[in-house]
Amino acid sequence: MPLRSRPGLLLPAALLLLALLPGCTGEPTDSDGVFRVTCTVGMLGDLAREIVGSEGEVVTLMGPGTDPHLYKPSPGDVERLGASDVVLFVGHHLEGRMAEVLGRLGEQRTTAALGERIAPELLLRGEEGAPDPHLWSDPSRWSRVAIEIGAVLAAADPSNGDLYRTRAAACGERLVALDAEMRERLSLVPRGRRLLVTAHDAFRYFGEAYDFEVVGVQGPSTDAEAGVRHINDLVTRIIERRLPAIFIESTVPPRTMEALIEGCRARRHTLRIGGELHSDALGAQGSPAATYEGMLRHNVETIVTALTTVVEEP
Ligand SMILES: [Zn+2]
Repeated sequence: MPLRSRPGLLLPAALLLLALLPGCTGEPTDSDGVFRVTCTVGMLGDLAREIVGSEGEVVTLMGPGTDPHLYKPSPGDVERLGASDVVLFVGHHLEGRMAEVLGRLGEQRTTAALGERIAPELLLRGEEGAPDPHLWSDPSRWSRVAIEIGAVLAAADPSNGDLYRTRAAACGERLVALDAEMRERLSLVPRGRRLLVTAHDAFRYFGEAYDFEVVGVQGPSTDAEAGVRHINDLVTRIIERRLPAIFIESTVPPRTMEALIEGCRARRHTLRIGGELHSDALGAQGSPAATYEGMLRHNVETIVTALTTVVEEP
C-alpha cells in the first residue's frame, strides 16, 4: 500500500501533458536564459545545487519523507521537467513510476541516469540480477556520482564547464573523507552486533562498505507487500545475535517492524526501535539530515547509539 505516496496523475495523463508542453515539441522554453537543472531525489539535488552554484537553478522533485519507488510525477512536475535544461535521476528502476515520463523526456532534453553511469563492477545485484539503485548509502560510491554530475552539467553548459568540474571534484573529495569518518565511527559497533535490520533493502552498499550484515524486511523495493514469511526466521536471527535494536525508515510505514518486535517479545527478547534512518530521502528542511552528508551522519550516529546500547537480559 503506497501509504505515503503523493497523489499524482495516472501515467497516460502525465504523458499526454508532457507531449503537449511547448518545450517538448522542439521549441525553446527558457527565453530568460536561466540554466535549469531538475533532480528526482534530494541525494542528487543536494550535490547538484553545490555543483551548479550561482550558475543556474536546481529543483528537487521529491521532498523529505517521499518514497521514490512509489512516486508518481504531478502535473507541476511534468511541466518543470519539460522546462529543464538537464534532468538528473538515479535510474536502475529507483524512480519506477517515472520511467515512462523520463524516457519520453530523454528524446528532447539532456537526461542522465547517474546510477547507470557507475562502473558495473561497483554495483550490487538483487536475486534476479537487477542492479541495486541505493548507491548513496556508500559515500565512496556516491562520490563518483558527484564527478558524473559535473561531467553531465559541463557537457550541457560548456561555458561553465570548468566551474562544474572543479566543484564536483571538491564535493567528491569531501565524500571520500566522509567515508573514512563513517568507517571510524562504525568501528565502535562490536562485530557480533553488526546486523542492520531496516524496513526495506536500502543499505546493501552501506553493509558492504562498513562490514554490516543487512536485512531489509520488504526487499529492495517498497513497491510490494512485505515478505512476512521471513519474519519468523528473522526473529530467530535477532535473538541468536541478542540484537538490541532495529530501525524504521522515514519513507516506509513501520508496521512490519512492529511485527518483529512482537515476535521477539513472545520469545522473551527485548527488541526496540533504534531510531529512524533516512534511507531514500533527505530529512526535513532545517534538520541536520536535510543535506546528503547530514543524512549519512544522522544514520551513522543513530546506528552506533542503538547498537552499542547495553542490553539487560531478563
Ligand atoms: Zn529504496
